[in-house]
Formats: sequence, structure tokens, C-alpha cells
Amino acid sequence: MIVLTSNNDTTSSVRSCPRPLGLVPTMGALHEGHLALVRRARKENTSVAASIFVNPTQFGPEEDLATYPRDMDRDLALLESEGVDLVYAPTPEEVYPPGFDTRVDPGGMGQRLEGAARPGHFRGVATVVTKLLSVIKPERAYFGQKDGQQLAVIRQLERDLNLGVEIVAVPTVRDSDGLALSSRNAYLTPEQRRAAPVIYRALTQARQLWDEGERDAAVLRAAAHALLKAEPLLEEIDYVSVADADTLEEMGRIEGPAMVSTAARLGSTRLIDNVLLG
Ligand code: AMP
Repeated sequence: MIVLTSNNDTTSSVRSCPRPLGLVPTMGALHEGHLALVRRARKENTSVAASIFVNPTQFGPEEDLATYPRDMDRDLALLESEGVDLVYAPTPEEVYPPGFDTRVDPGGMGQRLEGAARPGHFRGVATVVTKLLSVIKPERAYFGQKDGQQLAVIRQLERDLNLGVEIVAVPTVRDSDGLALSSRNAYLTPEQRRAAPVIYRALTQARQLWDEGERDAAVLRAAAHALLKAEPLLEEIDYVSVADADTLEEMGRIEGPAMVSTAARLGSTRLIDNVLLG
């Protein structure tokens, strides 16, 4: 497994990788959710590249950039054991050298939900993903359904800018109690960790209503909200959304495929999750 930190070395190394090449972008602190993306990429491509980069431009000034978990040695050992061919792990200065002055702005899709709660977040995501795709030039790139809005933003980015990359979505990997795996789960106290599965239970409750034939999005939102509200350790619920799965616009009646999503805070840890309908 080759580990590279510079853009130029990475671009020339991937040129000699047998194609197709699959890319798995990550911020490190790898868990089974990330590894599901790597395994899928390994299955579908001749070569696999992963990137490890905690992207400063997608964090707000009050967010956890400084404390975000980092463990490069462990991450590299995991990626090597999964048969990854190349890891691109640049420094912030390599990605954003002095004079860097271009942003990729996702527009309306990036303003809603997570975009409203985290202004500028998806501009940071879209900019770094564009850059990663330009440096590595994969045929396919793998993203988790766990970050459902990110996936929708990246699909739109790929379409709008004709990036010519197949965007592959991988289902959310969960712990046995339903909590979606996330690097940020490491911040939870044991008590908060015990309470956290309420997030998935609330989403599942909405999906169950839909399974039973309910098509009024407001009823689903209210049911999920009530369950979240009943958990005293959940200090803040940013949103409970039932949105069109492609555009992420809030729905009135649920007519096509939808995404039920929520963001809530346990102490200072903000967790997001979603389930798909149809
Ligand atoms: P991150 O390191 O958090 O930026 O995540 C890197 C990639 O892994 C993103 O495409 C995430 O959506 C994906 N991912 C993170 N957690 C999970 C999970 N529990 N299941 C599936 N994919 C995940």
C-alpha cells in the first residue's frame, strides 16, 4: 500500500494503477462504516484508493475541528488489511496552499437541513470532494448513506459539473442497538451512548407509520419528534425532516422516495442519522 501526501505524487501514482479505480474519501478515525465503503470499492474495482483528510473548511468556527479524533497509524493498518492500494493523506497546506481562492458552492441543496445548521459546511465538502476527484481521477467514488444530504449534494455536484465519476451509495452500518456508527460516537459518555439509539428508534417509528400507509409527512415528523423529545439526555433537536430523497425539499404528502432525517445533540455531541422510504 502506497501512502502519499502530495497532490503531484498522488496524481502520478494513480496513473499507474490498473483501472477501474474506486476512491473512498474519509476523515479518518475509521470504523466498520468506513470499511463497508472500502470493501464495496474493493469488490467493484481493480484498484482502490482511500483518502484521509480532516477537512478544515467543512467545520464551523465553533465546531470540533481541533478535537476531531485522529489515529493515522491505526487507520493505515486497517486500510492495508482491507487491500487498499493507495492512501492519499495530505496536509491542510497541500490541499489549500497559500493563494487558494476557489470554492464550489452547492446552491439550494446545500442550504437546507445540515446546511442551515452548519453554514458553509457543504461548500467545504463540495470543494474538497471536487479537489479529491481531480487529484485521484477515479472511475467510482463511494459515499455512505449515513450522511444522506452529503450524498445528495455530491450527486448533484457530479451531475452539474459533469465530473464523469460514478457516485456509489453504501447503506448505513449500525451497532446492534441501531446507533449509526460515527467517528463522533467516541465523544459520548457511557450514559449518553445508552441514550443515543433513540435517534434510530425515532426514524424507525416514522418509517413504520409509512409502512402502515401513512402519507402525511407532518404525522411522521411529529411521531419521530415526540420520541426524541421524550429522551431527557437529548438536549437539542435541530430538525426532523421528511424530504424528497433527490431534492431534499420538505414534503407535504409523501408521494415518491423520501428521506427521513434528524440531527440532535447529546451534550456537546451532535449526531445525525436518516432512513429512506421507498
Ligand atoms: P467521514 O470520515 O465521517 O467523513 O465519513 C467518510 C465516509 O464514510 C462518508 O461517505 C460517510 O458517509 C461514510 N460513513 C460514515 N459512517 C458510516 C456508517 N455508519 N455507515 C456507512 N457509511 C458511513
